[in-house]
Amino acid sequence: MKKIVIASNNVGKLNEIGVILTPLDIEIVAQSTLGVPEADEPHFTFIENALAKACHASRYTGLPALADDSGICVDALNGAPGVHSARFAGEPAAGPAGSRANQDQRNNQKLLELLANEMNRKAHYYCVIVLTRHAGDPQPLICEAEWHGEIVKSPRGSGGFGYDPLFLIPDLRRTAAELAPGHKNRISHRGLALAALAAKLRGSCIVDRVSWTTFRR
Ligand code: IMP
Repeated sequence: MKKIVIASNNVGKLNEIGVILTPLDIEIVAQSTLGVPEADEPHFTFIENALAKACHASRYTGLPALADDSGICVDALNGAPGVHSARFAGEPAAGPAGSRANQDQRNNQKLLELLANEMNRKAHYYCVIVLTRHAGDPQPLICEAEWHGEIVKSPRGSGGFGYDPLFLIPDLRRTAAELAPGHKNRISHRGLALAALAAKLRGSCIVDRVSWTTFRR
């Protein structure tokens, strides 16, 4: 079985990636179990940050590495919060006040305040996935996807995480936080990017015994 290190310690992401890769006879290993420290994400594009994370994990482990980066981009804010989605309202507070739920709530509050008098509520989630065969890989495999919607005026729903209670899918008349998890995973930016990854990997040399040198494009 081939092994890929996942440049993330997020359990939810590891599970989603595992569902896609295990049937392809690829074993995934979280970078933390191999002692890989968190990589810096200094860039202002998702793709550069994902590439930095994947190369960092490949460099530390000598293994192929998969990283993703995602966030929400709001039209009226010129694409902000973008790569700053997780820390839009600033660094998390120390202790329990810095919990993910609290941080999500602060981020959502800031977004609602910025859009208070704004008519254009269009926004999209974006996810990019990068797979490097080694740290100096000149041709990493890249899959990306967008999920388009609108920012509502007050939060709705209790599912999902992050900006989901504010993210309305107009066709469904529901926010992402009002969708069942399986439904969200089928249509979300991350779900679609992972599906594209699976389609590219299926049948490519990465899953046979010949070599890791060719990715299907
Ligand atoms: P990361 O890629 O897990 O670091 O996500 C970056 C940030 O973007 C998260 O902390 C959330 O604030 C936001 N984000 C990314 N994907 C989603 C999603 O599916 N729902 C809600 N928020 C998301």
